[in-house]
Amino acid sequence: MNAINETHDPARKSFVESANDGKTEFPIQNLPFGVFRAPGGHEAPRVGVAIGDMILDMSHGWGLFHGDARGAAEACAQPPLNALMKCGPKAWAELRLQVSRLLSADNANAGAVQKWLVPMPAAEMLLPVSIPNFTDFFASVFHATNAGKMFRPDSPLLPNYKYVPVAYHSRPSSVRISGTPVRRPSGQTKPAADPVPAYRPARSLDYELELGFYIGQSNELGAPVPISEAQGRVFGYCLLNDWSARDIQGWEYQPLGPFLAKNFCTTVSPWVVTAEALAPFATAAYARPGGDPAPLPHLDAPGDRAGGGIDIRMEALILTRKMRDAGQKPHLLSTGTFADIYWTVAQMVAHHTSNGCNLEVGDLFGSGTVSGEAKESWASLLELTKGAREPLALPNGESRGFIDDGDEIIFRGHCEKAGFARIGFGECRAVILPAHT
Ligand code: MN
Repeated sequence: MNAINETHDPARKSFVESANDGKTEFPIQNLPFGVFRAPGGHEAPRVGVAIGDMILDMSHGWGLFHGDARGAAEACAQPPLNALMKCGPKAWAELRLQVSRLLSADNANAGAVQKWLVPMPAAEMLLPVSIPNFTDFFASVFHATNAGKMFRPDSPLLPNYKYVPVAYHSRPSSVRISGTPVRRPSGQTKPAADPVPAYRPARSLDYELELGFYIGQSNELGAPVPISEAQGRVFGYCLLNDWSARDIQGWEYQPLGPFLAKNFCTTVSPWVVTAEALAPFATAAYARPGGDPAPLPHLDAPGDRAGGGIDIRMEALILTRKMRDAGQKPHLLSTGTFADIYWTVAQMVAHHTSNGCNLEVGDLFGSGTVSGEAKESWASLLELTKGAREPLALPNGESRGFIDDGDEIIFRGHCEKAGFARIGFGECRAVILPAHT
């Protein structure tokens, strides 16, 4: 994990007043990167940094930066974020430091920066990264056990689970930015009572609350990334919804795992919270209970055990059409922490490259559904409703086994720790549209 430095100082304030109200997800200690289109909608995409309710437009003002930050600032003029990622961790850190100083209330030259601020509500957020590859993991042992019980009641957790950070290759082509509606997929499903499958709209549409992360540094084909270097390859983090059609999944997944049940759409939040911004919230990796095997040596490092976890509070909410029409607030479905994840980010990266597989700049990883042990933290409807056998009662009298057309699923995430500023991820949300006819 990155070191703590002046960019994390909770006393630092910004001349952008909305960044100092104690409620914003984007105080000066956060400074996430995103790609946006300025108000009006006809201009080219730009890289921006979130500060309070404003966006610092990074496509201008290179003259304000010096040293290693200058090249990184120039890379910001070439959206999406891949060019910035290629500059490497030293340049990312120097850019963050200089952006922090520029936005600081102490900056005597604030006027030079002020003119590059755009109101966030008026901007259209775009996919922040050109994603060459997308891999989705299955790193919560609680989710793996809960989900396994649905699909394989006799052996919920397969014998490889505690040795292998299991994943599947998904589709970057169908990754969409928060706010983009999601079309209900159709596919082959076979209810237990039916002798043969039929092609029809999925009836068991679900969400999976996950942490996403972008690889910022590639490795050569054939050259595994050692676990001690693995977390340093990550540029930043987002919220990710691995939409899942459980009825398609149940019929298709054996023997090769998810395919059409998952690749019809994945939603990501627009702001990429940098690895450095998360440094104060590093925590011990999830402690394996007694009796669990130790990870094999190539997936184990003292530093990762001591500080490879991240305490990110993650929430899933639902807003049905009826709730929306009545002007009601979204209903909280679950709340948990990424610190409960069985496999760390470093273990996922090290495992993915352990056979020599090459990661590319901009590759997206999903952590897998971030469920904890307690029911309040179960991060999919499959778990919360036991596959619709125990439907959820919503406060307005509606109930849900899985997601209905018109429902909106909303994810939020934030980090909080005494002695540090609270930072957030913004939202990852999408409404479900009826199946294509
Ligand atoms: Mn998933």
